Amino acid sequence: MKLALPRMGNIEVVYDTLITDMGHELIEPPPTSKRTLDLGVRYSPEYCCLPLKIVLGNFIEALELGAEGLIMAGGWGPCRFGYYAQVQRDVLLDLGYKFKMIIVEIPRGNWKTFRENANLLRNGKSWFYMISQYRLAWQKILLMERLEQKVLVVRPREKTRGAASLAFKESISKIRKAKDLDTLKKIEQETLEIFNDITDLQKKILIKVALVGEFYISLEPFSNFHLEEKLGYLGVEVVRKNSIEAWIGPIVKLKIFKDSFKEEKDIEEAAYPYIAHSVGGEGQITVGNVVLAHEEGLDGAIQVIPFTCMPEVVAETILKKVSEDLNIPTLTLIYDEQTGEEGFNTRLEAFIDLLKKRRKKAVVLS
Ligand code: SF4
Repeated sequence: MKLALPRMGNIEVVYDTLITDMGHELIEPPPTSKRTLDLGVRYSPEYCCLPLKIVLGNFIEALELGAEGLIMAGGWGPCRFGYYAQVQRDVLLDLGYKFKMIIVEIPRGNWKTFRENANLLRNGKSWFYMISQYRLAWQKILLMERLEQKVLVVRPREKTRGAASLAFKESISKIRKAKDLDTLKKIEQETLEIFNDITDLQKKILIKVALVGEFYISLEPFSNFHLEEKLGYLGVEVVRKNSIEAWIGPIVKLKIFKDSFKEEKDIEEAAYPYIAHSVGGEGQITVGNVVLAHEEGLDGAIQVIPFTCMPEVVAETILKKVSEDLNIPTLTLIYDEQTGEEGFNTRLEAFIDLLKKRRKKAVVLS
């Protein structure tokens, strides 16, 4: 079957392992672009959140290239994400496309659909082979995220502008092609050596900020105007708090039915004085992560929100109090299809200037 997955950050590292190596034909949506966004916006219900629109655009571009099946994550919970795939499927069917929507989610009683989808993805291969491919894909995601965190540390210290991004990009294409765990280990070692070579250890980093907020926007550079790179080039070390590991780790490690993951528990406890319950999405996690950012001694936090995202709007309101109580500056950036990059850059630079001044003042006073 000709299958497509949406784009998000560097998720293409698993495309070959999960699709081509399972005997399917991969239809790779083009990198997310203005056209992708325009298509998504044109055909989505207006009230939908930005990530739904961008992913819909990815799907339209994949269908134009001949995709017969679209793989989309599903879920259940109090925010709109759990219903994304169904909305996208209905919009695309209304547009006249013929395809099968394969929704990957923990079933709530509907094991029949789960089995059907698993068999379709298995494509006649043995269960053992399928599980080993999924394990390899998971290890690829973990490595990708370890290197993503590392590149955030290297970028503001690089000797030559752009060297860290380039080395990272090359490692992503190697991870994508890797067929076993030993190759992944080698790639990690080599990439860390390159990172070492391109880092100026004498360079003093004044500012460290936490990147918090909605999952998709914080992971997808097109949607957040390449925020991490921009901050890196402003001499800022970013600590990105969201990750795929934290999102689906509990499911992969079969902890979904037990107490929440330890890391998640720490975040919930940190958030507890301000917000005692989940409000869906990353709302409570965002608050907890800003409290933890303060405890870790970071200079500030940047929250990214897609316009109309209820959980993050709740978090934004609470962050004002957190910021006041803990004396940690926060900046909220709201994105939609109308957001202009220039105004966004100005706000970002002003915030970083503020953090730099605070840091200098603190050094003088101490
Ligand atoms: S977290 Fe916000 S943006 Fe993401 S799906 Fe839920 S409501 Fe939409």
